[in-house]
Amino acid sequence: MATPENKLAFEGGWEYSPAPESTDHIKVAKKYELFIGGDFVKPQSGKYFDTINPATEGRLSRVALANDADVDKAVKAARKAYGGPWSRMKPADRGKYIYRIARIIQERAREFAAIESLDGGKPIREARDVDVPLAAAHFFYYAGWADKLEYAFPGRSAKPMGVAGQIIPWNFPLLMAAWKVAPALACGNTVVLKPAETTPLTALKLAEVIADAGLPDGVVNIVTGAGDTGASIVSHPGVDKIAFTGSTEVGRIIQKALAGSRKKYTLELGGKAANIIFADAAIDQAVEGIVNGIFFNQGHVCCAGSRLFVQESVVEEVIRKLRDRMETLIVGDPLDKNTDIGAINSKAQLEKIESYLDIGREEGGDMYQSSCAVPEKGYWCRPTIFTGVSQSNRVVQEEIFGPVLAIQTFRTFEEAISKANNTPYGLSGGVWTDKGAKIFRMTQSVRAGVVWANTFNKFDPTSPFGGYKESGVGREGGLHGLDAYLRLEA
Ligand code: ADP
Repeated sequence: MATPENKLAFEGGWEYSPAPESTDHIKVAKKYELFIGGDFVKPQSGKYFDTINPATEGRLSRVALANDADVDKAVKAARKAYGGPWSRMKPADRGKYIYRIARIIQERAREFAAIESLDGGKPIREARDVDVPLAAAHFFYYAGWADKLEYAFPGRSAKPMGVAGQIIPWNFPLLMAAWKVAPALACGNTVVLKPAETTPLTALKLAEVIADAGLPDGVVNIVTGAGDTGASIVSHPGVDKIAFTGSTEVGRIIQKALAGSRKKYTLELGGKAANIIFADAAIDQAVEGIVNGIFFNQGHVCCAGSRLFVQESVVEEVIRKLRDRMETLIVGDPLDKNTDIGAINSKAQLEKIESYLDIGREEGGDMYQSSCAVPEKGYWCRPTIFTGVSQSNRVVQEEIFGPVLAIQTFRTFEEAISKANNTPYGLSGGVWTDKGAKIFRMTQSVRAGVVWANTFNKFDPTSPFGGYKESGVGREGGLHGLDAYLRLEA
């Protein structure tokens, strides 16, 4: 329905001409091998799998499938490098290699952004402005720590752990690789990394960067495959530490597999973040923050603001403004610079999201989706809100990992806190208010690893990130992120 705010949109005022990012400058090979011991090697499994573009359903490349024997080879290469050149190297020199990786990522930023968008379905704007610069920033940041560990942990000796097995998801493929690889290297470890099966390409491009940076062979090994390959890394006796980011379900499997072993681990798992809007908030700014928190990234973020609590006196205004804003969001070609919401990462993920839309309606929720057109081919989901839902509803409790927002109201501060904390997760949250005192009370009361105030989804390599409860174990980022890759002794 046209309201004064969105009248312009309905009159065609916001029609944009296509602004596609060119792909002439990128090179995607027809086939990718495993990166082990400094070389690209054929998998002993003899098998390859397709990686597709979720916006077109077309195949981008074929990628090697690593089996137990391949993982074993990668772990042995990492062990050899750990016992050899990498641990003998001066920390300051290790830092120089990490700086070099950061600089090459910056030089190849456009290529990385376009490939991330093609392989994962995310808008080029996000890949270009968030994923790639932040990935480079993580390498820069941790490069600086490599020769300063004694200052990070004064009075204690900090020793590397050995070989780190790292398993990452598909929502921020290059950035998650950077989160894992940069601190591991800065602390003197070697690495076996496995990207997600739907988004392996930027990790394989990172392998090229690592080779170009001249790191000693075997310091970073990248093996591709699905859950079995990940499980093989987790159970390999030659791995000293496991770092995992992904679903709570797989996190539980990994935790069970590691129980009783000497391996240290960090798990960064799911979330169901609450955004809380008080009546005194700047409403337009809050609405923009909500849209940024759940829609701009297809909801493909573990810290996505997927629950919204609005103080009762402003709920009508917030929902009206949110619906108006949703009408202006562009869903479609991820490579178009005007696109706000790209493709859902895979068919399986789209089916999961759609099943939650059914569940939400069956539970009695009122569903509203924007009316924008979506392309015929590919995996798409329009931005969606549910109102009329309650705390016990599954769309309020469970992680959907799609552009789906569940909206509820509250009257008092205490009610907002108790509703926000009524979740098995505790990764992130957001508060929108004009009052500093409320912000401080809120950040102390919301049981979440990070609480943003009057903003959302802001990241920086210097800040630790991680969750409470079922959202995980341990912290990544900042000084805390070093701790996870070191044996600290008195
Ligand atoms: P999502 O639900 O976000 O796809 P998953 O937890 O399924 O996340 O996957 C995250 C990563 O974990 C991927 O790289 C995937 O291949 C890997 N993985 C899946 N199952 C297992 C397992 N049993 N053990 C180790 N890694 C796994």
